[in-house]
Amino acid sequence: MRRASWCRLVKTFYRDCSMITNKYKPLSKIAMSIPPRKFKASITALVQLSPTVISITFKPVDFPDFTFEAGQFVMLSLPDEAGNENKRAFSIASPPHEAPEFRLCIKVHQGGKVSGRIGSVPVGGLVDFHGPFGKFVLHKPLDKETMFVAGGTGIAPLYSMIADLLHTNTQTDIALFFSFREPYDYLYAKNLEQLADKHSNFKVYTTLTSRTASVPGWCGSRGRICELLMRIIKSPRDKSVYICGPKEFIDASRETLVQIGIPSEKIFVEQW
Ligand SMILES: Cc1cc2nc3c(=O)[nH]c(=O)nc-3n(C[C@H](O)[C@H](O)[C@H](O)COP(=O)(O)OP(=O)(O)OC[C@H]3O[C@@H](n4cnc5c(N)ncnc54)[C@H](O)[C@@H]3O)c2cc1C
Repeated sequence: MRRASWCRLVKTFYRDCSMITNKYKPLSKIAMSIPPRKFKASITALVQLSPTVISITFKPVDFPDFTFEAGQFVMLSLPDEAGNENKRAFSIASPPHEAPEFRLCIKVHQGGKVSGRIGSVPVGGLVDFHGPFGKFVLHKPLDKETMFVAGGTGIAPLYSMIADLLHTNTQTDIALFFSFREPYDYLYAKNLEQLADKHSNFKVYTTLTSRTASVPGWCGSRGRICELLMRIIKSPRDKSVYICGPKEFIDASRETLVQIGIPSEKIFVEQW
């Protein structure tokens, strides 16, 4: 292999690994139990969740036993016009009990090599995957309360974990703190509110970060996630927290949680 392509390969590998590494936690053993492999999946549905986010459902065609741990991700590979394969990680947003079908929640970046192009693959079209991967999974035994803190599309792996916990009728109390810009960025609003209506141990707290003065009909909080966490979390005891979102969001949430008194070994993060 020529030196330039080798360097590019090494750079890509380290970029992906550094984004994936959970720097605050030792590795969990559970997620290692499902060996990853390459497979093809066909698109069975594509839904626009917000002006910039799409949900795509996939059905593996050559991996009928495909399964995963809630919180894990897959590598999606898409060729460009020049035939180069572009690989990107996407967290699985659906719960494991819906496998082998799985759903991804993708923020479309204009000009993005994968997110900007996946929406043009038609329903029925085949896509290459490798996975499942990742150690951002639920740590058992669960604490008395399991909390989730999501920023934007960071809801994807957390939604999978919450739906998984509620499906198994867990006794743990579950709280989701969800931060997004505008009301239309409240991904899975209907599903989350239906789950909260059905399960008395599940509460959803939302906060809008948009500075728009008036948002008609909005009943959630306004402002930064830190204020919401500070206001709602009364005691740091018997809690573990899973955070997913961009780096600044994770850093700010984590700092607040530590300030509240939650031990850092009870805080698990996935950053992208
Ligand atoms: C473990 C993990 C899980 C993840 N899960 C999810 C998930 O569930 N959902 C999700 O949406 N993302 C997720 N991501 C992020 C995802 O992997 C990609 O990084 C993201 O989709 C951007 O890839 P891309 O191919 O669209 O953009 P790239 O082609 O990699 O471009 C990167 C950035 O540059 C910008 N850009 C590209 N071309 C141009 C141009 N010509 N001009 C100007 N700007 C340009 C794009 O807008 C984009 O912001 C995850 C990442 C990790 C590590």
